[in-house]
Amino acid sequence: MNKKFWSSRIQSLVPYTPGEQPKDRVFIKLNTNENPYPPSPKVLQAIQEAAGDALRLYPDPEAQSLRGALAEYYGLTPEQIFCGNGSDEVLGLCFYALFSPGRTVVFPDITYSFYPVYTELFGLDYQQIPLNEDFSLPVEKLLGGNGGVVVCNPNAPTGQALPLAEIRRILEANREVPVLVDEAYAEFGAQSAVPLIEEFPNLVVVRTMSKDRSLAGMRVGYALGNAGLIAGINCVKNSFNSYPLDRLALAAGEAAIRDKEYFEETREKIMQTREKTTKALRELGFLVHDSSANFIFARHPEKSGKELQQGLRDRGILVRRFDKPERIQDHLRISIGTASDMEALCQVCAELVRD
Ligand SMILES: *Cc1c(COP(=O)(O)O)cnc(C)c1O
Repeated sequence: MNKKFWSSRIQSLVPYTPGEQPKDRVFIKLNTNENPYPPSPKVLQAIQEAAGDALRLYPDPEAQSLRGALAEYYGLTPEQIFCGNGSDEVLGLCFYALFSPGRTVVFPDITYSFYPVYTELFGLDYQQIPLNEDFSLPVEKLLGGNGGVVVCNPNAPTGQALPLAEIRRILEANREVPVLVDEAYAEFGAQSAVPLIEEFPNLVVVRTMSKDRSLAGMRVGYALGNAGLIAGINCVKNSFNSYPLDRLALAAGEAAIRDKEYFEETREKIMQTREKTTKALRELGFLVHDSSANFIFARHPEKSGKELQQGLRDRGILVRRFDKPERIQDHLRISIGTASDMEALCQVCAELVRD
């Protein structure tokens, strides 16, 4: 590739690789943790109502109506809430706004692979803390001596949740630096750190409507934290893009957070399917970690991850696999689909381990 006209800043930048979104044929798509259920009918109605004359006008740069709905949902004030164009963008703004050059940000070696990309992009120093053999987090290695902490809870791609008491331990030992908790999957079974926001002005919780509210296609993410810290994120946002959320996304996000009943119903189905799939795969000899997310992390002792992933793909099912670090290359990260998606998955897995 000719990088002649690329800034010196990005000559060696390695971007994040998102999961495949195939267009050539129909797959059962279990590779990007999308919700298998459609958004709430109330969300679709809100989008239709927003899709009118008003689209010629800029959206509300402060997302006040959406922040009001989120404030009500979480028992916070709107000043404690920041909304952005998907949580990837919110995370990026947080990294830029909260972490300082020359100070080392720490996060696990096995976690959301976007974190090292942000630190590289913004020229931040970072250290990756190796997870224990069983993929649990060695919390004692995060207790001070750093310039900030990032924890994904439940963690991706392992699905393991950290108890709130452990998050509290991390916050108590890092009172002088920001602690970011990425709760993209928290609604599927982890204890949220939101109740600790009052007590810890260094805490920022980042969430998304992509997974739990079936809105990956609308790009709605948000950060929750102390008003001073949120103002810092706004300062960066207003130095970059004043209107990150468009009118349709604002309407969709607000309707989604207000329709608790639909959310709880779909979440319950996903969690039940997760438990059923875990059990079925274990019966086929897979080693499946207990998951608190809308995906499972599994391997088979006699099959390589590569061969399982390809076998599934050949039979119309996409799952995700990571080559790095090496110790997870034989694991598959399998999103929880509908009950019938997962029956199809288990059937193909049975064939693959029989061969
Ligand atoms: C999916 C995901 C995100 C990003 O979600 P958006 O679609 O950008 O809102 C952030 N963090 C983790 C851990 C994720 O898995």
